[in-house]
Parts: sequence; C-alpha cells; structure tokens
Amino acid sequence: MGEAPLLNGKRLGLVRQAIIDWFDRYGRDFPWRHGSEPFQILVAEMLLRRTTATAVSRIYTEFINRFDSLERLARARQSTIERSLSTVGLQSVRAQQLQQMAKMVLKEYDGIIPENLAALESLSGVGRYAAAAVMNFAFGFPEAMVDGNVVHLMNRVFSLGVKGPTDNTIWDFMRKFGGPQDKRLYWGIIDLVTIVCLRRVPFCHECPLSKYCDFYASNPK
Ligand code: SF4
Repeated sequence: MGEAPLLNGKRLGLVRQAIIDWFDRYGRDFPWRHGSEPFQILVAEMLLRRTTATAVSRIYTEFINRFDSLERLARARQSTIERSLSTVGLQSVRAQQLQQMAKMVLKEYDGIIPENLAALESLSGVGRYAAAAVMNFAFGFPEAMVDGNVVHLMNRVFSLGVKGPTDNTIWDFMRKFGGPQDKRLYWGIIDLVTIVCLRRVPFCHECPLSKYCDFYASNPK
C-alpha cells in the first residue's frame, strides 16, 4: 500500500462525498433501507450475506411481516422458515441461523438486539460485516464495514492491493475512509459496484469517481 495517497485526507473526503452524492441520485431503493429497527436490520443483513440485494428484496417484506419479532422467529417451525426462504437459497442453513439468533437474543440479551459489536458478532450466523452493519444502520455508529464490494471498489480507486475482507489493512483503511456515520456511503458502495464499477468491464465514463481513481488513471479508455 502506498502511504502518501492513503494519508491524503482531502482525497478520501472527496471520494467519500462523491459516493454519497451519486447514491442520492442513483441509489437503489430496498425495503430494509427505509427503517432502522435493529431486528429488521439484522434479519436483512443475515439474508444479504452471499445473496444479491435484488434476490432478497423479493422475499424480505413478506418474511419480516410473517416473522415480525424475535419471539415469533424463535417459536416457528424450521420448515416454515425454510419455505419462506426457498427462493434465496441456502434456506436450511439460513433458517437454522435465524432461529438460533432469535433464541440467543431472547435468552442472553433479554430479547433486545445488543448495541455492541462483539455481542452482535457472537450471534449465530452474524459475521463481522453484518454486525458492523447493524451498528451503523440501526444504532448510528460510524463502524467500518468491509465485504467483497468494499474491497473491490477501494482496490480500484486507491490501488490498495488488498486480497479480501479478512485482511485487516482494509478494515484500518475503512476506519479512516468512513468518516462520520452516513448510511448512504455503504449503500452507495454496494450500488456503485453493482451498477457502474463492474468487475469485468467497469463503466468508468459514467462513474463519479473517475477523476480520483487509480485504475482509471492507468486504463483511460
Ligand atoms: S473510474 Fe472505473 S474503475 Fe474507477 S471506480 Fe469508477 S468504474 Fe471503477
């Protein structure tokens, strides 16, 4: 990682703001992006793991209406939960994890989704990204979040050369890059990677980051 550009706070701020401004104009609308109820945010993030937002959007509203509380999720038959998840795949694993999560929160946290990163991460089926997402989107903390989309976009713009989300350097980088809490930043990153900065052929001419992007500077087409 080159030190100089990464430590240039002005560049980080410009990229960050460009993502937020782009999201305001072009960001996608999903039901879980409207609220900040911790249970609903946690369920959404568990479903979004290894599944596209478009696929989750097809079942999310019905799922959250049917299993509208930790108690209802904990008491449901696993086969009933599985049926509600059948179109997003991994339904058996997901149903088990969702139900275990609900039981754990009821038993260990008095039925209240914990406002604590480590506690969230200890729940069944909740990884580092989902825990950080709940801290951000439900509780309003500027918690760094890293998944494959973040790694991909930050690698392209800042030439980080990070191999994947388990690399701690990208988590350190996102703590600097993230700035004050703003949900639109991470939603913007997800949507930019889905719509503009495609892995095979990015649409750099339509990208709000082109003037700051190392990849584009080396491959101007
Ligand atoms: S300029 Fe191109 S490579 Fe850089 S972030 Fe935008 S789409 Fe991706």
